[in-house]
Amino acid sequence: MKPRKFTPAHNSKELAELVCSNSLKSTSPDKASGILKKEMLQLDSLIINSAYSCQLPAGGALAVDRQKFSKEVSRKIKNNPLIQVIEEEVLSIEEETTTPTIIATGPLTSSNLSNNIEEFIGKENLSFYDSISPIVSYESLDNDHCFRASRYEENEGDYINCTLNESEYALFHRTLIESEKIEFHKFEKPNYFEGCLPIEVMAERGFETLRFGPMKPVGLTDPKTGKRPFAVVQLRKENSNESMWNLVGFQTKMKIKDQKEALSCIPALKKAEFLRFGSIHRNTYINSPGVILNTLQSQKNPLIFFAGQITGVEGYSESAAMGLIAGINSSRVFKNLEPIVFPIKSALGCLTKYISDSTNKKIQPMNINLGLFDIKKPKKNIEKIKKSSRESINEINMRNQIELDLV
Ligand SMILES: Cc1cc2nc3c(=O)[nH]c(=O)nc-3n(C[C@H](O)[C@H](O)[C@H](O)COP(=O)(O)OP(=O)(O)OC[C@H]3O[C@@H](n4cnc5c(N)ncnc54)[C@H](O)[C@@H]3O)c2cc1C
Repeated sequence: MKPRKFTPAHNSKELAELVCSNSLKSTSPDKASGILKKEMLQLDSLIINSAYSCQLPAGGALAVDRQKFSKEVSRKIKNNPLIQVIEEEVLSIEEETTTPTIIATGPLTSSNLSNNIEEFIGKENLSFYDSISPIVSYESLDNDHCFRASRYEENEGDYINCTLNESEYALFHRTLIESEKIEFHKFEKPNYFEGCLPIEVMAERGFETLRFGPMKPVGLTDPKTGKRPFAVVQLRKENSNESMWNLVGFQTKMKIKDQKEALSCIPALKKAEFLRFGSIHRNTYINSPGVILNTLQSQKNPLIFFAGQITGVEGYSESAAMGLIAGINSSRVFKNLEPIVFPIKSALGCLTKYISDSTNKKIQPMNINLGLFDIKKPKKNIEKIKKSSRESINEINMRNQIELDLV
């Protein structure tokens, strides 16, 4: 809809505007975001190719000259004879459409359209703020300071409970109070829901507040001491192979370095590897399981696709990755070919599986990370992940090319 109408965060008339950081994160083949970008290049991604052509030196990250990058993407799109760009706000989805349509209006989708998307997918399936707790890898936990149990239950239990004694809790509490927080943007109106307060806001309400909230130790006995701990942080599994664990109720607006510092006061998390940091932002996104298929088609009308951050992924590269899949699949549907389900051996497949997996009741936006790969001890198996990612995308490329040639 730019430049006729702008969201509160966009102000350039060009396409592919990077509204905050100019980095598309790591290019290292040993990091999940590097693997994702490599797959996107194998599939000839417009966004990643353009980013490399406007790259600025940034160590192991793919940072870009953002003006050049936007101009480059706009030039390629506008010069493509098969594309007609119409700069208008779309007010509603054409529900009965008979040609493939992709909705990719991002975290700040205009209110007219978001009202209509709510009608299309059901009001309960569209969120306007994310409220994200950090995720840590299982491999990085210190087992001497945690135990497995569910409250008031005697069997093994679903949670990992990280214990704190009184002095450890006091240090953690003080670090939270002193931490630096990320300011809200002008267009964001923080109106916290009492049941979902950031941990630092709870800490400011009093020394005991967290101990009577997400850190309450009731119903838990530490098998090492036979006693109830002073406080606990509960970790809930985020994926079925138990490589990713979510800190329950630990949504936060602390800066990343402050999150690392505060959470490392929890003995079991002293050396934790963070697969996702906590955050709270204005973010329009779909609770995709049950709404979007793993091909990015909507369940209600498979000719309507969703792409970008609105699908429940987080970040520039991840959003572009969903655009790439929706583009490939909508063109295949248009040519009467089966849409491709990306294999879970690839980063693209892991992300689409996470957002569409109907065993997840409610998702919070997710960035690509090694824990999403369906493999035990992902860091130790990185060579295996790299190989399977490369091979599975090559296979898809070959199959897609052959089928398109036949058409
Ligand atoms: C303030 C802010 C800061 C962010 N910072 C970062 C960051 O530093 N790093 C990072 O990786 N990610 C960041 N993100 C997330 C980032 O927005 C996404 O990762 C990425 O830009 C999403 O891509 P997208 O194509 O899905 O949406 P967008 O890039 O937002 O593109 C969607 C486009 O749709 C247009 N649009 C909206 N409604 C309509 C309508 N009804 N009709 C027609 N057009 C419409 C919008 O104008 C926009 O141009 C940030 C998000 C916000 C809001």
